[in-house]
Amino acid sequence: MKARTLWFLGAAAITAMPGTALAQTPEYPITLIAPGTANYTYPEGYQTPWDQVEIRVTEHMSPNLYVLHGSEGLDRNHPDGSGGRVMVLFGPDGVLMVDTQNRQVAEKTLAALRTFSDGPIKLLVNTHVHSDHTGANAFFARQGAVIFAQENLRLEIMRPGADPAHIPAATYRYDPAQPGEPAITFRMNGETVDFIPMMPSHTGGDTVVRFREADVIYIEDFYRNFGYPFADQRNGGSIQGMLEAVDLIYRLAGPNTTLVPGHGTLINKEDLLPYRAMIVDIMARVKALRDRGQSLDQVLAANLTAAYDATTLGNTDESRNRFITAVYDEVPGLPPIVDGRRTMPAR
Ligand SMILES: [Zn+2]
Repeated sequence: MKARTLWFLGAAAITAMPGTALAQTPEYPITLIAPGTANYTYPEGYQTPWDQVEIRVTEHMSPNLYVLHGSEGLDRNHPDGSGGRVMVLFGPDGVLMVDTQNRQVAEKTLAALRTFSDGPIKLLVNTHVHSDHTGANAFFARQGAVIFAQENLRLEIMRPGADPAHIPAATYRYDPAQPGEPAITFRMNGETVDFIPMMPSHTGGDTVVRFREADVIYIEDFYRNFGYPFADQRNGGSIQGMLEAVDLIYRLAGPNTTLVPGHGTLINKEDLLPYRAMIVDIMARVKALRDRGQSLDQVLAANLTAAYDATTLGNTDESRNRFITAVYDEVPGLPPIVDGRRTMPAR
């Protein structure tokens, strides 16, 4: 932890003033606003009141690496904090953003960014296709950002009539021969930033973003600690792939590396282990029932997550059933990856 702040202040400043200087050195990460932890419920037909959602600076990861996140209690998809986290690296070389939040709050996301940087927005990377991470792409492209992502994400985001500014301009691919290798490395604002393409996991086009000096990795949504795991199988994701992603991050992260999920609380690599163990356990239980010929409805009724419900925040029926259904669909075996993509058979 200390080494990270020494880098920024300069070692000389610290050694010249032992004791007092160290006591005043901030320890990163600094959480300014923690995500919510309540049991949120919403009436049938509830619509997110976007005009009420606030976008705030919620964490400082280093003196010039901040996190933006939405307020709690309003967004049915993410009640602990609306939308997906945005990371912002800023300084004399301009702004690099990770993800863009929902389209409906684009102006508020920019306003939150402008509370600490007036620099040009130059680079933007999308961690995965979901609209809480890419919704304001076109808005930030018009601010000047060049959008980077996996080629698979570009294919996922293309829709007839889509705004061309919404679509990543610069793409790269995951190389199965070199998992964990950055596709692109940027050196700016005193940071070294790696865009690391992931195997098909949460979606078919995931990227994690590593900030080497801050010792931080944005790990997006294949890990979550609010609600049960979610693999977007329609976009090439899988629960099995998420396990592989967890294992890769466990290998890439150091003991003090802060891992920043798209939602929920910040973690360290050891926090991945109980999550991984839970997924492995549930997969084995679902497989045992499916192998005995049980239907999806029977498996859902077996309440296989009971042992985890008390310690899983946001453990709604919807979240639990979505997870169990994904596992049920996968246990007979995953289809092969063709051209970097995997297509699950439609239910
Ligand atoms: Zn997300």
